[in-house]
Amino acid sequence: MAKQMTEPHRQHQRDTERPPRHSPSETSLDVGSAVLEGRPRHGTRSGRKAIFELEGVDVAYSGKTAVRNITFDVAENEITALIGPSGCGKSTLLRCLNRMNDLVPGATVEGRIEYHGQDLYGASVDPVEVRKRIGMVFQKPNPFPKSIYDNIAFGPRVLGMKGDMDQLVEAALRRAALWDDVKDRLKDNAFGMSGGQQQRLCIARALATGPDVILMDEPCSALDPISTGKIEDLMMELRESYAIVIVTHNMQQAARVSDMTAFFTVELEDEGASRTGRVVEFDETEKIFTNPADPRTEAYVTGKVG
Ligand code: ADP
Repeated sequence: MAKQMTEPHRQHQRDTERPPRHSPSETSLDVGSAVLEGRPRHGTRSGRKAIFELEGVDVAYSGKTAVRNITFDVAENEITALIGPSGCGKSTLLRCLNRMNDLVPGATVEGRIEYHGQDLYGASVDPVEVRKRIGMVFQKPNPFPKSIYDNIAFGPRVLGMKGDMDQLVEAALRRAALWDDVKDRLKDNAFGMSGGQQQRLCIARALATGPDVILMDEPCSALDPISTGKIEDLMMELRESYAIVIVTHNMQQAARVSDMTAFFTVELEDEGASRTGRVVEFDETEKIFTNPADPRTEAYVTGKVG
């Protein structure tokens, strides 16, 4: 196994015996008309409660399968990384976790995705409520052309959330480690911020609606190394209260920050006529990077194929 892959992980290695932490998911959640009790689920590999349980998930665009038979769990207070070559369906799968694929014409999702033990695609579940509970951050920082304050307040206002908006904005900015940078310029346009600050603003915006999961689709790919380091530090802090699922092409990043890793690959089907993504291996990140079970995982994490 290549040394360069094991070092970054060792650097940030955390104790695997961490006690269970409390997260917002302990409370009962109101997802549309369905009330979800934060009841204990069957154990994940780490023994923490599962937030998502995926079983046999297939996603297709206009009948063409993009990912097939995906089965793994996402636990609370963990960072789960999705890695693999381009086009293997990592972003597709990520978008299923907050029903963003509902917005893509022709996209279909089969199999089962449970969120706190309830079918995420069940008839009684409101997709808007889902996206409030399951926040998303994209590759390129995408603040609204509004003030820093209004970027954060936007979601809570649209959702009709009650309470002191100033307090809510401050709390979200503090959680995203941005308050000290911006507290004196809350009325300034968000476009005046650096790229790294804009991405932390987008994270704060996602936190403002009270989610318990943050989905991140290559959140650092447009950032310089210093800003990337700040986002990675922030992810480690947020893990104390949220589940995070991150798509990343940066394997050192996956090794540094994540607890669990799903390695995806693309397989040719129909005699080479179509390409379908599958999960080859899902395990603790340390195992994936130091002692993977499948030779395809080893070839990818050591850089022999990509
Ligand atoms: P990755 O994130 O691993 O690079 P994607 O999820 O972006 O992979 O893509 C997986 C497959 O699904 C690719 O073949 C891609 O062309 C296809 N795909 C992704 N998004 C769409 C879409 N909106 N419409 C049609 N096909 C799509």
